[in-house]
Amino acid sequence: MSKGNIGVTSDNIFPVIKKFLYSDHEIFLRELISNAVDATQKLKTLSSVGEVKGDLGDLRVRVSIDKNKKTLTVSDHGIGMTAEEVDKYINQIAFSGAEEFVNKYKDKTEAIIGHFGLGFYSAFMVSKKVEIFSLSYQEDAKAVHWSCEGDPEYTMEETIKAERGTDIVLHIDDEFSQYLEDATIEGLLKKYCKFLPVEIAFGKKKEWKDGKEVELDEENIINDVNPAWTRKPSELKDEDYDKFYHELYPMQFEEPLFHIHLNVDYPFNLTGILYFPKIKSNLDVHRNKIQLYCNQVYVTDEVENIVPEYLTLLHGVIDSPDIPLNVSRSYLQSDNNVKKISGYITKKVADKLMELYKADKEEFAKKWDDIKMFIQFGMLTDEKFYEKAKDFALLKNLDGKYATLDEYKAQVKDAQTDKDGNLVLLYTNDPDAHYTYIERAKAKGYDVLLMDGELDVHCMSQAEQKAEDNKLRFVRIDSDTIENLIKKEDQAKDTYSAEQKEGLRKAFENLLPSAEDKLRYTVTCEAAAADALPVFLTQNEFMRRMKEMSAHQQGMSFYGQMPDSYNLVVNTAHPLIQELAAKESSEQVNEEVEKDGKKETEVKTVYKLEGEDEKIKQLIDIALLASGQLKGEALAKFVNRSVDLLNG
Ligand code: ADP
Repeated sequence: MSKGNIGVTSDNIFPVIKKFLYSDHEIFLRELISNAVDATQKLKTLSSVGEVKGDLGDLRVRVSIDKNKKTLTVSDHGIGMTAEEVDKYINQIAFSGAEEFVNKYKDKTEAIIGHFGLGFYSAFMVSKKVEIFSLSYQEDAKAVHWSCEGDPEYTMEETIKAERGTDIVLHIDDEFSQYLEDATIEGLLKKYCKFLPVEIAFGKKKEWKDGKEVELDEENIINDVNPAWTRKPSELKDEDYDKFYHELYPMQFEEPLFHIHLNVDYPFNLTGILYFPKIKSNLDVHRNKIQLYCNQVYVTDEVENIVPEYLTLLHGVIDSPDIPLNVSRSYLQSDNNVKKISGYITKKVADKLMELYKADKEEFAKKWDDIKMFIQFGMLTDEKFYEKAKDFALLKNLDGKYATLDEYKAQVKDAQTDKDGNLVLLYTNDPDAHYTYIERAKAKGYDVLLMDGELDVHCMSQAEQKAEDNKLRFVRIDSDTIENLIKKEDQAKDTYSAEQKEGLRKAFENLLPSAEDKLRYTVTCEAAAADALPVFLTQNEFMRRMKEMSAHQQGMSFYGQMPDSYNLVVNTAHPLIQELAAKESSEQVNEEVEKDGKKETEVKTVYKLEGEDEKIKQLIDIALLASGQLKGEALAKFVNRSVDLLNG
C-alpha cells in the first residue's frame, strides 16, 4: 500500500470544493457519470482503431445505492485505470487526462466529454470518503484500490477486481442523506443523464400490478442513447420530432407547431432541435425551457446568455461542446463562440420561417397567431432578425385576411393616403368596443387591422420609425373622427363662426357630469359627417400609445401615471347639433383687454345655449355609452332620462 498527498498547490483543496466550487451539490452525479460514459466511449474508440481486441461485452453504466453501508456507487466497464493512471489523473489533479487523450485520438473524440474540470473531485461535496476500484483494459493490468477521506491524504493499494472498468464508491455524508434515496437519485439521473450516449441503469424496472408496485427482472434504463438531435434530419419524420418533443417535456401535452433541426460543425460545433410551441401565456414559456447539452450531457436550462432573449420563447435542445461550461454568466456573454452561436441560431430560425412562409403562405398564416408573439419579440430586440422577419411578419385585418406590411400598404394605399401623402393604417384592439368607429371607416371604403397582441403597439411604432419616407402612420380607429384620421382635400366644413362654436362647446362642457369628468374629457366642435354620431369620444393616438408602451418599459413611468384622457367631439355636421346651434342666442359684451400696455375695451359677440340641458346631457351620455364609459349612477340617470324623454 502506498500513501501520499494529492498534488495540488493549495494546502487543502477540499474545503474549497465543498464550499465554493459548486453551488449546486447535485452535479457531482453528473460529473461521475460523465466520467463513466467517457471511459466507455474511450474504450469504444480504442476498439474501433484496433487497440482493444475482441468483444467489449456489457457496457452499461450502473448506479446503485447501499442504504446500510450508506454508499452510492457508479460502475462502468470502460477503459479503467492503472495505478499509474490513478496517480496521474486523480492524484495530480491539475493534470487533465482528457486533454492527453484528445490529443492522441484527435479526430475520433467527438463523443468524449472533457469539459467538466474538477469533475471527479466534486464527489467530495457530498461524501466523507470516496473509493475507486479500477481495472484497466490493458493486458496484465493489476486492479487498483484508491481511498481518500476528504483531506489531502490518500491511500492506494493493489486489489482484486474481476471485471474491466471502474467503480466509484461514495460514502455519503450524513448531511447529504438525500442522495441515498432512490427517488432523489432517479430524479437527478432523469435530469442530467436522459440522453447520454451510453446506457445508464438504476435498479430494476417497476410495474403496477394489482394495486402494488412490483420489481421486474429487467434493469431500469434511464436514458435514450440516440436522441433525435444526434440523428440525421433525413432519417427523421415529423412524428419522430413530435415524439422527441414529448420525451423532452413529458408534462407538455400540446404538439409543437414546427421544428428546426440545427447542425453545424464549422466554425463551431452545434447540433440541436428547436421547437415552436403554441405560446398561450407566459407560464408555458417558463416551464419548458430550451435545454443545453454538452455531448449529450445535460448542462442547464438557463440559456439566456447563449441564445438571443427572444429565442428563449422556443423549446428544445442545443448540444455544443464549444460552449464553455462552469464559467460565469458574464464571461459567457463575451465569449466569441457564444456570440457566433447566438448569431447562427438567429439566422437559422429566420431562414426556416422564411422557408415555411414561402412554401405555403396559407398554412403559415394559420400558424401566425400562435407564433406572432415570438416573431414580434425577435423583431423588436434583434436588428438582424428584424431585417429577415419583416418579409414574413404578417398583419391581420378584421376579415381575418393576412398580409405582410408591404403587401398591405400596397392594398390600402389608394384609399388611405391622406392629402399630405401620409399612408394611414387604421386598427382596433377591440372590435366590439369600437364597432361604431369601424362601421364609419368601412363606409368610407377603408380597411381596419386587428391589433390585439401584447407587442402590437411596439411593433407599429417600430414600423413607423423604419418607414423610409417617414409617411407611415398607424392610428387606432377611435383616436379621432375618421375624417380627421385620414384627411382628404374635400373635407366637410361647417358654416359656424368661432364664437358660435365656442358657445356650443361651453354648453356641452358645463354639463359634463362631474368636475373629474371635466379633466378627463376635452370638448371640441368639429364637422365630422352628417351620418356620424352627433357627439362621440376619441382618444389621442400618441398619448394612449405612450401610456400602453410605458406599461412594458422602464423609464417611461411619466406616461404611465397620466390619467386616461379623451376628446368629446361635438359633431357640427350632424342635424341634431345644427338644431342646437340654431337655438343659440348671442349678445354683445364689452371686454377689457390689454393692448400695447394700455387697457382697451373690445366688443365681443358671445353665444349662449339655454334651456337645452336635458338634450345636451342625453347627447353626452350617448357618446359615453357608445364607448362603454357610461356606468353606475350616470347610466341609471341616462336610462331614467330616456324614459322621461319618451313620455314627452
Ligand atoms: P476530467 O474528466 O475533466 O478530466 P476528472 O477529475 O473528472 O476530470 O477526471 C480526471 C481523469 O481521471 C479523467 O480525465 C480520466 O482520465 C480519469 N477518470 C476519471 N473517472 C474515470 C473512470 N470512471 N474511468 C476511467 N478513467 C477515469
